[in-house]
Amino acid sequence: MSVLVYTENWDGKFKKSTYELLSYAGEIAKMANTEVTALTIGEVAEDELKTLGTYGASKVLVLKDEKLKDFIAKSYSSAISQVAKKEDAKIVLFANSVSGRALAARTAVQLDAGFAPGVMQLPSSLEPFVVRKKAYSGKAFADYELMADVKVLSLTQNSFEIIENAKEIVIEETGVEIHDEDLRAKPKNVEKQTGKLLITEAEILVSAGRGLKGPENWGMIEEMAETLGAATCCSRPVADLGWRPHEEHVGQTGKVVAPNLYFAIGISGAIQHLAGVNGSKVMVAINTDPEAPFFEAADYGIVGDAFKVVPALNEALKKFKAGQ
Ligand SMILES: Cc1cc2nc3c(=O)[nH]c(=O)nc-3n(C[C@H](O)[C@H](O)[C@H](O)COP(=O)(O)OP(=O)(O)OC[C@H]3O[C@@H](n4cnc5c(N)ncnc54)[C@H](O)[C@@H]3O)c2cc1C
Repeated sequence: MSVLVYTENWDGKFKKSTYELLSYAGEIAKMANTEVTALTIGEVAEDELKTLGTYGASKVLVLKDEKLKDFIAKSYSSAISQVAKKEDAKIVLFANSVSGRALAARTAVQLDAGFAPGVMQLPSSLEPFVVRKKAYSGKAFADYELMADVKVLSLTQNSFEIIENAKEIVIEETGVEIHDEDLRAKPKNVEKQTGKLLITEAEILVSAGRGLKGPENWGMIEEMAETLGAATCCSRPVADLGWRPHEEHVGQTGKVVAPNLYFAIGISGAIQHLAGVNGSKVMVAINTDPEAPFFEAADYGIVGDAFKVVPALNEALKKFKAGQ
């Protein structure tokens, strides 16, 4: 038996979450006295494939199939399930990203597996198999016992450190059968963003809410993000009002993020917002209202007007960077 990891790539480059996931898989493999097999779908250069060995994979399976050219959750999960069966994988791991979440649930059904979505820690034991995940929008933890023979987990991004664990690596091509019924819906055209830091991958996020009054005031937020090498994101009303693009909306109905540092500027801290961001390592709230709920969740808080605090911060950050 092996631990199988589905490795997501973005235009042939592996994401940071892939290396976190491999590190996590490597630690589980040590506990189970087995090896990690990584599966990648599509064209990825050999040098990039070799990086998977640096973080714990012993074998890399490459699946190139014209029918898998477009990302379709049904066909991809069918392919991953077939590979899992061939490899006799008892633990199948995904990142808890948008596509990882869609694939993990479908793959669990196809493998008749026990499924724990959004885990944050290593299993506390393998027999019985018990693993911890967040519950109630991040207000509680739940320990899940998975009783099925095969276990499928999705790992919350940025919840596990990247660990170098270099292995001798074997890279092999593999094949699966994709049926027409797995291809009943396909994207007609995809417009990809280029050159922009993905909010689910960024180490630092500068997020702003309705307290900013209008889209014309985002210049100082973008300036702060640029100085910090961060990505920008926002609360839901800001996206609903069209002040910022919907892909920046974080929270229960938006993206779930877990950066090392999250700035919440003019965001009240509603439970639905916190549900998507409270996996952040450190949170800083800037708000005029000392009673704003965000201050209860934040590690640091500044009670003040964003229109005064943010420009002053930008100036101080630039001076700090220049002095380094
Ligand atoms: C089913 C459901 C799902 C939802 N999903 C999400 C979600 O995924 N993500 C999400 O964000 N919301 C979501 N919401 C909405 C959520 O309940 C809140 O309404 C929303 O998060 C509030 O956004 P906000 O904090 O930007 O705005 P507001 O609640 O209007 O807060 C603005 C804040 O800015 C502060 N402020 C005002 N002026 C300044 C200033 N000059 N400087 C500094 N601070 C200032 C105010 O004190 C206030 O705290 C959802 C709601 C429902 C019902």
